[in-house]
Amino acid sequence: MFDTLSDRLNGIFTKLRGKGRLTDADIDATAREIRLALLEADVALPVVKAFIASIKERARGAEVHGALNPAQQVIKIVHEELVAVLGGETRRLQFAKQPPTVIMLAGLQGSGKTTLAGKLARWLKAQGHQPLLVAADLQRPNAVNQLQVLGQRAGVEVYAPEPGNGVGDPVRVANDSIDHARRSMRDIVIVDTAGRLGIDAEMMAQAAAIRDAVSPDETIFVIDAMVGQDAVATAEAFRDGVGITGVVLSKLDGDARGGAALSVRYVTGQAILFASTGEKLEDFDVFHPDRMASRILG
Ligand code: GDP
Repeated sequence: MFDTLSDRLNGIFTKLRGKGRLTDADIDATAREIRLALLEADVALPVVKAFIASIKERARGAEVHGALNPAQQVIKIVHEELVAVLGGETRRLQFAKQPPTVIMLAGLQGSGKTTLAGKLARWLKAQGHQPLLVAADLQRPNAVNQLQVLGQRAGVEVYAPEPGNGVGDPVRVANDSIDHARRSMRDIVIVDTAGRLGIDAEMMAQAAAIRDAVSPDETIFVIDAMVGQDAVATAEAFRDGVGITGVVLSKLDGDARGGAALSVRYVTGQAILFASTGEKLEDFDVFHPDRMASRILG
């Protein structure tokens, strides 16, 4: 991920090396090249615009420090702006004052929700929590089974509809799971929900109904970092249709251009909480904006 963008940005910075002082024309030319590099990486236009405006303003206003040459100064500014666009500080999960904490996962089919549910459960268990996984994705024939396999691997119980009891009604399953969590002293409930291949009113209504049934402390939008420009419309639809409190980027191990990763924070207004980097349960970590920015700049 980000390989092309990294190469492009480094090429731009190389051109600045050896320059004694940057003129306004140098800054404009550099900003234009950065703009193109971001657009080619599929970063959403409003994000690119805000990013470039900020870089120009800061580069023009930058004092000439003894310690940093102009190229280093531009790199520093771009790094700081990348950190900002990725959310600034690392944001931790919010826990309920009164357990159980309810975490609902939402996103398109194939975005990596069910896999993430297993990863989160494993990660939370390792920190001493007692999570419960809830199979409220009853749309995809194999989703319940997939979650049960992941739950077994993570050593975490999975609450799934009993045959003949609420089968086909994900809202009821989600609702009943909270009572089950209370009775069995689980302090975190992770609710996997159904997605579809595209944005769909029925899916959104179902996700909203599950949300109303479980009153989540976190509603996490899972987005496949491999998707390009579609990311913005999808993120906006989930923001408006379900209301999200955080984002997880999945498939960051892929070799996509990375635009979705760089746009989603700006578009949703919500922090990126975790990064998913593979199919295995351990391919998962807390998202750190500064580390990601450093990775992009190589
Ligand atoms: P859901 O439909 O949103 O529940 O998506 P799934 O969790 O079933 O994931 C869809 C596919 O993507 C599966 O084949 C997963 O193994 C795969 N997958 C999920 N997360 C990642 C990831 O971070 N990296 C890679 N390479 N594959 C992933």
